[in-house]
Amino acid sequence: MARLELNNIQKVYPNGFVAVHGLDIDIKDGEFISLVGPSGCAKSTTLRMIAGLEDISGGELKIGDLVANDLPSKDRGIAMVFQSYALFPHMSVEANVGFGLKIKKVPLEIRKEKIKWALDLVDLNGLGDRKPSELSGGQRQRVALARAIVLEPQVLLLDEPLSNLDAKLRIKMRVELKRIHKKLGSTIVYVTHDQSEAMTLSDRIAIMNAGELMQIGTPNEIYNSPKNKFVAGFIGSPSMNFISGNIVEDSGKISFQCKQGKINIPERLSEKAKGMLNKQVTLGVRPEDLSISIDEADNCLAATVVVRETLGSDDFLAMELEGVKDLITVRIQPDENYPLDKKIFVKMDLNKIHLFDE
Ligand code: ADP
Repeated sequence: MARLELNNIQKVYPNGFVAVHGLDIDIKDGEFISLVGPSGCAKSTTLRMIAGLEDISGGELKIGDLVANDLPSKDRGIAMVFQSYALFPHMSVEANVGFGLKIKKVPLEIRKEKIKWALDLVDLNGLGDRKPSELSGGQRQRVALARAIVLEPQVLLLDEPLSNLDAKLRIKMRVELKRIHKKLGSTIVYVTHDQSEAMTLSDRIAIMNAGELMQIGTPNEIYNSPKNKFVAGFIGSPSMNFISGNIVEDSGKISFQCKQGKINIPERLSEKAKGMLNKQVTLGVRPEDLSISIDEADNCLAATVVVRETLGSDDFLAMELEGVKDLITVRIQPDENYPLDKKIFVKMDLNKIHLFDE
């Protein structure tokens, strides 16, 4: 178990491409942290630099108290699980799990004990004699985890470990991973492009875009107080709605004005809004913070229902704001009914709206 510090970490590839621009992340001992962001934002590059599979071009990497920039991979006390699992197909589950210990010349008796402990932890005892081909996708994934855990690494690095599994199994393995982390208490860095995976698994999430850290925080902080439009749009499903408009002041009252109506700016946002006066801004609001009003009222925008999506537990309305092509999403209860293609109104929970610079 160890603390992991990335201080101003940079990566410049040999072709001159700057993939990581000075990343600062301080990961506590025992913390489960996710690096999340769209494809190409340098999640894997960052993970590979921590693992020692990729040179660090600048900054300082600390594992525990040790500066690890130039430490060989094998001396970093790190184990990594890859997307592909990379199991040896001709070896049994036990041999796969024990492989790293054998390389380290750990005596057979101790090896056996540790393999049993690791297989117990991932709930695979009794399957030690099987070959990987005789296991389900989820079981193979757990063998790969056991093979990393058995080395008792200070830090466990996981690179999209669930992406080869079908949707249902992914959700099951999410719970398993969380359970294993609780038992093991190790520091975990988890790379994923899937925001829901990051939200459900992590103590904290680091959101990256184009090699830069956009925000780091607990899932709740990130969801409720996104620092910018990128984070707001990336986290949450369905995504946050964005509406373009201006901030205006009228007899001392600050409001957001767009083609479809006017929204009062709550006290909480008034300082921020004052700095945006007469500027083009984006108002952000999540589907669950919108509701429908048949009649016009304060803080409502005129819109029509284009499509209704039924999920069973919640339903979603895709709505067209008057004069705007982009649709917005409103979450409603399954027993709510509204007419299609007729002018109605979308109402906002003012406590939950966000303002972003354009
Ligand atoms: P992610 O894991 O977030 O999808 P990567 O870390 O794989 O992103 O890649 C980050 C960026 O670095 C991408 O733009 C990618 O094209 C670039 N990149 C990755 N490997 C190399 C390399 N060996 N040489 C040059 N550019 C690279």
